[in-house]
Amino acid sequence: MADRDSATGVLGLVQAYVNSVDLQDGPEELSDPNTLGAWLLARGLLEPGQTVTEGDLKHAIAVREAIRGLIGAHSGGKVYPLDIAILNEAATASRLRARFGADGKARLEPEAGGVAGAMGRVVAAVFAAMAEEDWGRLKLCDSQTCRWAFYDLSRNHSSRWCTMASCGNRQKARRFRERAKSGV
Ligand SMILES: [Zn+2]
Repeated sequence: MADRDSATGVLGLVQAYVNSVDLQDGPEELSDPNTLGAWLLARGLLEPGQTVTEGDLKHAIAVREAIRGLIGAHSGGKVYPLDIAILNEAATASRLRARFGADGKARLEPEAGGVAGAMGRVVAAVFAAMAEEDWGRLKLCDSQTCRWAFYDLSRNHSSRWCTMASCGNRQKARRFRERAKSGV
């Protein structure tokens, strides 16, 4: 069944990349160089037969967490210079350039191959997603232990938790317990 809170297209790709780890309960989909390679290959971000190193894995996870930070700004978080530096570095290393396709449309494509190129395609997806009207609907769950990227389909963009069934209720229960403890 399709997840109600999932975006599609470039937004969906950005969301899926950020959510390749469940920070709260696991699993980490990018647990080693092989699983990173398989993840990128399955989404057409990496050419087949590329070597993926531990360094690539570290870089890919740094890029992922930088994107998470960027999305956090949609829920009132601030944008950190380190996240921006990581994204700029990934864009530079992949040598992104504007490329006009046979369909007459322009997109950003990396000149670099391997994982550097794959990270360029991820950054290009973020770039394209930012141009979409619904970019601001991609948000992070307010729970500090969760920080799952969810797609806010509420009319006034007011959702704060990934799903009311888990995090929202968990937050409410916690507040209820805190109030009960403090006797307020
Ligand atoms: Zn959550």
